[in-house]
Amino acid sequence: MTISRMMSIKRGLIIPESEVFCKSCDCQKNIINEMRLARKSHRYPEMQKHIISLFNDFMDLVTKYEIKMLEVLDLPGIEETRRFEKAKSLEGFTYNTAKDFALVQIISQWLDDIVGVGFDPNSLYGRAQVNAFAIGLTRTLMNLSARAPEGFEPLRTSAVQVTAENVYLKQVILEGGQRIKTALAIENMGIVRAELQHMASMGLGPREVARRLHKITGEGKAWYWLRLARTESVFAYESAFTALAHEEEFNFEEWSAGKEPCYICDALDGQTWRVNEGPRPGYDTHSNCQCIRMLLYFTDGPVNRKWDRESPYEVRPTEDEVATWRGTRLNPLTG
Ligand SMILES: [Zn+2]
Ligand SMILES: [Zn+2]
Repeated sequence: MTISRMMSIKRGLIIPESEVFCKSCDCQKNIINEMRLARKSHRYPEMQKHIISLFNDFMDLVTKYEIKMLEVLDLPGIEETRRFEKAKSLEGFTYNTAKDFALVQIISQWLDDIVGVGFDPNSLYGRAQVNAFAIGLTRTLMNLSARAPEGFEPLRTSAVQVTAENVYLKQVILEGGQRIKTALAIENMGIVRAELQHMASMGLGPREVARRLHKITGEGKAWYWLRLARTESVFAYESAFTALAHEEEFNFEEWSAGKEPCYICDALDGQTWRVNEGPRPGYDTHSNCQCIRMLLYFTDGPVNRKWDRESPYEVRPTEDEVATWRGTRLNPLTG
């Protein structure tokens, strides 16, 4: 993986290979190609547009706060940091309590700019989730109309309202806000502070330190924000599905995989569960999952038992495990 690849946000996102392939060896076997998944558009143009817009909003903040961090740490500016791939500089970088304090303040402001304080439907993240929820509601209703079997009056409107007080929407905003807080303010901040201390103790120069910062928390981590924009948008879309399924008392749901799905999603495609008993896109599959669920008025096909499998995404599955995911019917309820 070269540094320039990680910088190419203008050409579209390229996910660093270390995030995609087997981390313990170079085998590249049985690992979901996340680069391929990240390049694929969502099936609905309004969702795709929404995701791109959210990603761009995230990246505007990444650049804004990277500039601030470089400044308080007495490092080269953003332009210089973007330019130098194999940076070498002589003077040693120092890290002290004043710099540490300033850094913590910056990351905390950054977080406020994304999720706000407490439950905030007017924050950047909150507004985005309200929008994706609205798209999810409209599309779920459209799919229902299109798929209504003969003799069924298709549902065209619903009592489900797109307001921040909607319990399903509220829950998705609260949970997502917590996820982002944990990732940015706890995990990421811990890594950044430890790295800065380490680089100071190694006597690295400002250019190397700036490059490293760029990579671990700045624009070089654009792939992370794309993944977040895509996955969180699907979560909000799916919460609209759940709201509709519950409020309108539907009985069954069917998985509909995105285009050219990975083996996990491919195995789920077209399968049926009782409402709220099946796997959920993203949560039970993997990041960057662009699958959706469809509501069914009724089914005369097989219905699967309640979903209780863990996604094999995080761990490298064996050949046998891959085979059970690929094209086989999963724990059917009957037969
Ligand atoms: Zn998949
Ligand atoms: Zn999927």
